[in-house]
Amino acid sequence: APAKGKDFIRQIIDRDLEDGKYGNRVHTRFPPEPNGYLHIGHAKSICLNFGVAAEYGGKCNLRLDDTNPVKEDTEYVDSIREDVRWLGFDWEDRQFFASDYYQFFYDVAELFIRMGRAYVDNLSADEIREYRGTLKSPGKNSPYRDRSVEENLELFRSMRDGKFEDGTCVLRAKIDMASPNVVLRDPALYRIKHAHHHRTGDTWCIYPMYDFAHCLSDAFENVTHSICTLEFENNRPLYDWVLDTLLEGIKDETLFADCPEFLAELKAHPGFAARPYQYEFARLNITGTVLSKRKLIQLVQEGHVSGWDDPRMPTICGFRRRGYTPESIRDFCERIGVAKADSTVESALLEHCLRQDLNERAPRYLGVLNPLKVVIENYPEDQEDVFEMPLHPEDESMGTRKVPFGKEIYIERDDFMEDPPKKFFRMGPGREVRLRFAYYVTCTDVIKDENGEVVELRCTYDPETKGGWSKDGRKVKGTMHWVSAKHAIPAEIRLFDKLFTVDNPNAAKDGKTFIDYINPDSLNVLTHCLVEPALAEMQPGTNFQFERTGYFCTDLRDHTPGEKLVFNRTATLRDSWAK
Ligand code: ATP
Ligand code: MG
Ligand code: MG
Repeated sequence: APAKGKDFIRQIIDRDLEDGKYGNRVHTRFPPEPNGYLHIGHAKSICLNFGVAAEYGGKCNLRLDDTNPVKEDTEYVDSIREDVRWLGFDWEDRQFFASDYYQFFYDVAELFIRMGRAYVDNLSADEIREYRGTLKSPGKNSPYRDRSVEENLELFRSMRDGKFEDGTCVLRAKIDMASPNVVLRDPALYRIKHAHHHRTGDTWCIYPMYDFAHCLSDAFENVTHSICTLEFENNRPLYDWVLDTLLEGIKDETLFADCPEFLAELKAHPGFAARPYQYEFARLNITGTVLSKRKLIQLVQEGHVSGWDDPRMPTICGFRRRGYTPESIRDFCERIGVAKADSTVESALLEHCLRQDLNERAPRYLGVLNPLKVVIENYPEDQEDVFEMPLHPEDESMGTRKVPFGKEIYIERDDFMEDPPKKFFRMGPGREVRLRFAYYVTCTDVIKDENGEVVELRCTYDPETKGGWSKDGRKVKGTMHWVSAKHAIPAEIRLFDKLFTVDNPNAAKDGKTFIDYINPDSLNVLTHCLVEPALAEMQPGTNFQFERTGYFCTDLRDHTPGEKLVFNRTATLRDSWAK
């Protein structure tokens, strides 16, 4: 690869490899919580974690970070797996669940109690908040902070055994209630929650907190570089505290008198011999949409969109259904890079990446979104031309398809004007134009209904212009797409506009929420479209271009080949990305 400046994550990895910190190992993980569908922000994290591992010949785990039983579901697990694979990444045999480590977390918690580094606190949630203090004032110690190891062990086991109601008590780390970093003021490690977990069922009624479980999961999986987003910067000292406390404990065999096999297990683990470190990068924000699972769930649950995979959603499955390619999303993630400062990326850049990819790869077809009938009066009744057209103007290897022509055709309503201004290079009375790859035609008559609406055009064609050009070299000013009335296939085409009317719906003001900025006209369903017959058997999820009109794809849910054609407009042809 060319000597491009490496981002700070890759610089850190280079340095660690040079120092031999983990030998030659590079091991990352992508750790989504299965409480929603993945969005384009997650794609940045996926490309980074899997990408780094691939570049350095390392490994990347898929870890379902399922320590919160209430919001998690196997539906989300399945969608996460599908989306990561679709993006082009593979965790091989390394799919893990944080819930697989519940016993391990529990054993570490008991070790911390034996070390005098954790205690059971009976303060209420409100009291804990009050005792915690603020950024400007130190907190104060809980009256339960100095319980004996024996009492703490007994209480913690009672918590585990289901003897207490939710909220009765929590297990807290004993760190420092005066720490300038509020995160270190005796954070909770475990809470009681009598809730059914999507994988462990009712086995547990206590669940570990993120800050306790995440670093332990990383170490357990032998992760070397734990990459997360900036909002976890303040939690990094706690990440370090948990792992360093565990490492300290490992050194003291007397703490493991009752569980020598636990010590042996810890000692055998590379992830504890050389522990992981956390690094934070800026999360992706993108204009014109929201990237938070909470908000995306709200859009789905309140019915503002048809589901997680609504083509207007910024979810991976939404983009997939819209017709985005994994290549374009990976290209986008590469271009935005990885930095330490938050920023917002123009959605036009993502569209630009998409257009670049589809321009090269999407086969071309003819389709009329809003049809206007044209009768070619001098075209013989019994004549039927079939034109062989290239599937791609610059890529012969893509081949051709056959497009039938006839006496009656349809053109785009917008391609005709009865009284066209000079610069309108399309059809108008008396004007000669080219029908793409077919013939030159001249409009001779305009037929209207009782309301004055144009319902049909009459034309003549020049048989000498077959193929769409003339020997005498005369010029026509416009080229238009068309379909043969006799052969065209009806289709439904869905046009999408921005889901929000503002660039930043997150910055809702004046008592409004992001919901108030939803664009009421973001979906426009055209039900009377006509397309060329080659599209009839197209499988769902196929990308193509309607010449002059845009990039489209067959809908993954509603399109049935040979029966009901449903196309989504992926993007228009005009690129608004300014470099
Ligand atoms: P949300 O805020 O949308 O609920 P989350 O961070 O809670 O997202 P997780 O499932 O915990 O979602 O995320 C999995 C990984 O993806 C984490 O490492 C997280 O930092 C990363 N991630 C989430 N959102 C973004 C984003 N917008 N840009 C980059 N990475 C992200
Ligand atoms: Mg998270
Ligand atoms: Mg979240």
